Amino acid sequence: MSQPDEPTTGGTERRIGVYICHCGGNISDYVDVEAVREALKDEPGVVVSESPVFACSDGTQHDMIDDIRAQHLDGLVVASCSPKLHQVTFRNVAKRADLNQYAYTQVNVREQDSWAHQHDRAGATEKAIGLVRAGVAKTRLSDPLEPLRIDTVPSALVVGGGVAGLRAAIGLADLGIQAVVVEREATLGGWVGRLGATFPDDTSGADEIAGLVEQIKARRDITVYTSAELTGKSGTFGNYAAELTLHRDDGDKVLTVGVGAIIVATGFDSYLPDVGEFGYGIDGVVTLPEFKELVDAAPSGQLSYAGRRVRSIAYVYCVGSRQPAGGNEYCSKYCCTATIHASLQVARLDASVRQYHLYRDIRAYGRNELLYNSSREAGSTYLKFADDQPPAVAKLAGGGLGVTVTDLLTESRELTIPVDLVVLVTGMVPRENAGLTAVLKLPVGSDGFFNEIHPKLRPVETVVDGVMIAGCCQSPRTVGESVAAGLAAVAQSAALLKKGYAELEPLVATVDPARCIGSGECLTSCPYDAITRIEWDGRSIASVDPATCKGCGGCVPACGQDAIDLLGYTDAQMRAAIEGLIAAEPVKEAVS
Ligand code: SF4
Ligand code: SF4
Repeated sequence: MSQPDEPTTGGTERRIGVYICHCGGNISDYVDVEAVREALKDEPGVVVSESPVFACSDGTQHDMIDDIRAQHLDGLVVASCSPKLHQVTFRNVAKRADLNQYAYTQVNVREQDSWAHQHDRAGATEKAIGLVRAGVAKTRLSDPLEPLRIDTVPSALVVGGGVAGLRAAIGLADLGIQAVVVEREATLGGWVGRLGATFPDDTSGADEIAGLVEQIKARRDITVYTSAELTGKSGTFGNYAAELTLHRDDGDKVLTVGVGAIIVATGFDSYLPDVGEFGYGIDGVVTLPEFKELVDAAPSGQLSYAGRRVRSIAYVYCVGSRQPAGGNEYCSKYCCTATIHASLQVARLDASVRQYHLYRDIRAYGRNELLYNSSREAGSTYLKFADDQPPAVAKLAGGGLGVTVTDLLTESRELTIPVDLVVLVTGMVPRENAGLTAVLKLPVGSDGFFNEIHPKLRPVETVVDGVMIAGCCQSPRTVGESVAAGLAAVAQSAALLKKGYAELEPLVATVDPARCIGSGECLTSCPYDAITRIEWDGRSIASVDPATCKGCGGCVPACGQDAIDLLGYTDAQMRAAIEGLIAAEPVKEAVS
């Protein structure tokens, strides 16, 4: 590796093409694009300076490829939108023209300039010139890099033996990938395994889990460990050593399995109300899971609670969900439909039971709307309360329970409904997973659920390469949605594991062995544990595992010897970029 403060390739000998995009008018309405092009055309190393209307259009991409070939360009700079949008597009342009894709730099002059300075055209233009100069300066010192190729092991660990995890394990095995399922509880199945009839089709959750377990038993490619936890992870992406702790009667046993990917499907916990919250703690006030258990176990013909026949029920929706700041602000999404479905079960058990649904908004979306209609046809009464006027639950003097509600649907009249049973429609909360979160270094959102990389485009991947999330550990969802996410994680795992190798970004930290004195200052700076000590030429020095490194740069300033550099963002490149940025001359009013 080159020394950090030495240019890696000979400065002005580079042949760089610079393209400053109008983005329709998104950039050129606020930045004098022609002035930027003019300012850049004589920069050292710049041999092409253009200002296309849309840099990302097919036509401009072809023009760039022609320029790269005809002008023998060895560097490419596009000043346009965020790299999140088009970095891959222009890296591909470079690849199609046989230019190393890491000799490409994207400069963001839209989100970080034209849109941010819409009332200062001169200032935005001056900033654009500085930003593009910085990009050119960085590109002048770029080295050709190649993606890191990592061998992958054709097996995956599934953490969680609920419906999403079990279905994922079967999906993996069907694709020829060995699956290891580790479940914290003594039995498989999670919440779904304890349910009777479930929406939308009345199939029994317990039966569905039993069916999945049978399928798993029939597949030699699946190994299941119950009463077991993932307690350690080492190795690198594509080839992790997962440490499992099996809790056995004669003590804990530790086992290590080699896996290429990890699917986390640890599920959720049900919200547990405080005593007194909507009357919780009073005899006859139950949560939705408690009620569902009661209904599922009820003999045909009647519903009883604590030995007493139930003739009337009030459901209070949104308990523990959609709370003002400080509570759980999200909608738990499944509980409206689960409650409506349970009320239909009750109607089938005993059509004479009076059922009152006290709701803020009914969110029985898609086909679940049909269940809502059916429940009304079966006699359920719906009453809507305002967000700031929740119902109150109390014991009535003459026995039984009273629920007082101001019903927006009947001229906001206050009613007290006497009932035998009150069901608090409790939502989902994130499961206590601190140990697992620490082992996998998984990102957790402000709501406490695990975070994906992108909610729409990369919905099951996490920032930890090869570690996927699926089901309710990510956010509240239905059984069908959890299974779909589990299968998406299978597809993503197969994409990584079936080829036998994976490619990673080479923009990682490297240690210069000649400069490293082995002080170890960097060892604790890496949040991904990518730095270890190695013996080198009779000395102990630091070494970065490129497959584990995320290129965050956190270790670079930790080294007092300047022995660590980040490929693609070397000290020399960053210094040159800063100098390019501050060299921009103020732009005069002529540009306005
Ligand atoms: Fe409230 Fe229904 Fe959302 Fe559950 S699904 S939080 S009950 S709106
Ligand atoms: Fe760790 Fe970040 Fe340094 Fe890579 S760049 S070794 S991830 S601190």
